[in-house]
Amino acid sequence: MHKLAKLDHQFVWHPFTQMRDWLRHEPIVIVKGRGAELRDVRGRTFLDANSSIWTNLHGHNHPKINSAIRRQLKEIAHSSALGLANKPASLLARKLSKAANPKLAKVFFSDDGSTALEVALKLAYEFTRRTKKIGNPKFLSLAGAYHGDTVGAVSLGHIDLFHQAYGGLLFKSDKVMSPYCYRCPFNRAKPERNDARNYRKCNWECVGKVEQKFSSQKKKGNPFAAFVFEPLMQGAAGMIPQPAGWLKGVSEIARGHGALLIADEVMTGFGRTGKLFACHHEDVQPDFLCLAKGLTGGCLPMAATLTTKKVFDAFLGEYHEFKTFFHGHSYTANQLGAAAALASLEILESSKSIRARQTLEMNFQNELRSLWQLPNVGDIRQVGLIAGIELVKDWRTREPFDLRERAGSRVCEAMAARGVLTRPIGNVIVLMPPFCTTPTQLKKIVAVTQKSIVEIFGR
Ligand code: PMP
Repeated sequence: MHKLAKLDHQFVWHPFTQMRDWLRHEPIVIVKGRGAELRDVRGRTFLDANSSIWTNLHGHNHPKINSAIRRQLKEIAHSSALGLANKPASLLARKLSKAANPKLAKVFFSDDGSTALEVALKLAYEFTRRTKKIGNPKFLSLAGAYHGDTVGAVSLGHIDLFHQAYGGLLFKSDKVMSPYCYRCPFNRAKPERNDARNYRKCNWECVGKVEQKFSSQKKKGNPFAAFVFEPLMQGAAGMIPQPAGWLKGVSEIARGHGALLIADEVMTGFGRTGKLFACHHEDVQPDFLCLAKGLTGGCLPMAATLTTKKVFDAFLGEYHEFKTFFHGHSYTANQLGAAAALASLEILESSKSIRARQTLEMNFQNELRSLWQLPNVGDIRQVGLIAGIELVKDWRTREPFDLRERAGSRVCEAMAARGVLTRPIGNVIVLMPPFCTTPTQLKKIVAVTQKSIVEIFGR
């Protein structure tokens, strides 16, 4: 075993990892990255097929982002945002607000997706208490939701495997049916071997359920203060896309009931879904927009929660009124992160990058079609440059694999052996290529996925 692998085994505890399994194998130790490629300590190269857990946008070691960080490093790496302002953070706040929605005029910086959600959650909670005189505001999120691993974010989550154990630590939030068309009891469409987008035959029962939830909560005299959702596609729930019109429909219902909208674009933001932000697809204007992962192009940990002046104003007052938002992190508005984010946004907004993403998205769709021929591929769900491939025992019956069978993990292990890295979500293989992925690399990613599925389950 390589000495660096040994060092890891000795001291590092990995996230979302059964460490007993981890310690049985020599880990891949990454030492370099360029474009869509990663290189390990043994000189092997891999394609980064999930963009390093959905963070990387333009590829590793991007010269423009690197030089922005270097330029900033010559000035200063970090000074506190508690009591001090700084140039890159101010420029970035203005840029984010303009790019997302000028009504989201105030930007609160933090470190990660989870903290971006914590900020939105606490602001929405306190804003509601102050403006509506509601003692204990309630939140509604989607079935299968995942919004991060801090205690507030976990409270909004509904994945029992991750969240149940911590029930005693959490506040109670409610959940409503998500539009998981592939496994929807109301969907009358028969299983087909074609593009997943054409398979919805229903009467929007899922939207009706959202209306019912809001109405019944209102009758209890404590209406939901906020509706929390990932727009267009739920990620860790299993890459579940929302049929066109769902987002607009449920947003209007929530608004009609006076709830705030909290859009979690930690995964969907920054061009992943074909537009800069997923909310733009259906012209939905949230009260809170939570951003992280791709904010710095995947180079440094940084997050932002954007909100309206109306929310901001509710926290204004004289010092002695103590209306201050008492929340913040040591590295809030970090200069290096902000410099990287500014460079990343500039690349993202260039017409060259927009064209490249459109071409990549089309190629991605064409390549993914080849997977429909596999009997263990039940569903292929693509939104922009995100795809989830749901593995089943047989596409006709849609019978799922038991999680203990590790179907997704086994396929991903076979993919790694062939030089393509990604992680599954249960039985769903996630493909999320960096925007710089070449047609040849894309072909390899999908071909390796196909070969690995065949290797594990046979033809
Ligand atoms: N929200 C969503 C939609 C996410 O996908 C994630 C992370 N996968 C988070 C929040 C949490 O982000 P982080 O891991 O950066 O805390």
